[in-house]
Amino acid sequence: MIVPFLDLNAQYRSIKEEIDAAVHAVLEECAFISGPYVARFEEEFALFCGRRHAVAVSSGTSALWLALCSMGIGPGDEVITVPNTFIATAEAISRCGAQPVFVDVEETTFTMNAALIERALTPRTRAVVPVHLYGQCADMDPIMEIAASRNLRVVEDACQSHGAQYRGRQAGSIGDAGCFSFYPGKNLGAFGDAGAVVTDDPELASRIRMMRDHGQPRKYHHDFIGWNDRMDGIQGAVLSVKLGHLAAWNESRRGAAGFYRKCLEGMEGVALPEEAGYGKHVFHIFGIRSGNRDRLLEYLSGRGIQCGIHYPVPIHLQSAYRHLGFGPGSYPVAEKIAREALSLPMYPELKPEQIRFTSEEIRKFHTMAQSGRESGTEGSGNCSRTYPP
Ligand SMILES: *Cc1c(COP(=O)(O)O)cnc(C)c1O
Repeated sequence: MIVPFLDLNAQYRSIKEEIDAAVHAVLEECAFISGPYVARFEEEFALFCGRRHAVAVSSGTSALWLALCSMGIGPGDEVITVPNTFIATAEAISRCGAQPVFVDVEETTFTMNAALIERALTPRTRAVVPVHLYGQCADMDPIMEIAASRNLRVVEDACQSHGAQYRGRQAGSIGDAGCFSFYPGKNLGAFGDAGAVVTDDPELASRIRMMRDHGQPRKYHHDFIGWNDRMDGIQGAVLSVKLGHLAAWNESRRGAAGFYRKCLEGMEGVALPEEAGYGKHVFHIFGIRSGNRDRLLEYLSGRGIQCGIHYPVPIHLQSAYRHLGFGPGSYPVAEKIAREALSLPMYPELKPEQIRFTSEEIRKFHTMAQSGRESGTEGSGNCSRTYPP
């Protein structure tokens, strides 16, 4: 059985008519860049996030950069973030001319450990960028508390967490700004690159709006040096259609995660992802941990099960950040996650038999790996036959 890591085609097929009509409308009107479809998506997405403003931009990377630089963060400033994230989080800080300062993460959620922020602060610290990793929010209350007491800005990297919640609030609605990516593989994915910044601050929103379009308040009048970071009309139209399905897709992901949990629970050698009591996980990634990760990945790949590693090298050990001077051991939790994390296939259309097959293969691998144990005892575990519920 082939179990793909994700299946964008299955999702397209399930809403093909709606999508095709939306794209066709953009083509008919030649509303290629910004325009009415992007404006409508901005309104809908702001509403979805429970924020007053959403500014559509060209990618999640740009969203992070635009948010930070529009807050005036620049050379000489330090911005606190985590080392176990996609490189874009740190790149956005560096592109502003500021310096990323890392704090390690919690072992349970893989998100920022707020207790470590205090000792990373210097007089140059200007902002904190927590990452809502894998579809789960960082513990925001203590982060917001420290930020308020030190007058720091908070930019949530919600690029993996569309629709996730923290104490009843939407991901991206808690800090000064929330940044989203609509890269095709994300929970809400466009048909190309796209992103957004959401905020309640009208001045910040207006500055980002100008910044994404050459610093112009009106055509060919430029108040400051901006850039081209606009969203395409086709992406806006596609995202409007898909936003209407996001809640159901996230529930499907949660259902798939629950079934994985049933199948894998209690299996020796495998640590399952934990959902923190404070929020709702939307499982952009279903990440397990294994002490034998690389061999497990290879075994599953040989059985047709495509997995991923998010991420194999923490940012502080990347060549791009060599100049910061960190060696192994600097951020032990992040480094351990990089060694042990394995992302199993996860997408809303994932079928129960694919989850069952994947789980059984993981069980077989561990049975084989444990010498001295008799083989062939692997059963169907706790896999209920009644999925979906
Ligand atoms: C995807 C992602 C980004 C970057 O988004 P792009 O749209 O690919 O530029 C940033 N941060 C995190 C955590 C991401 O997962």
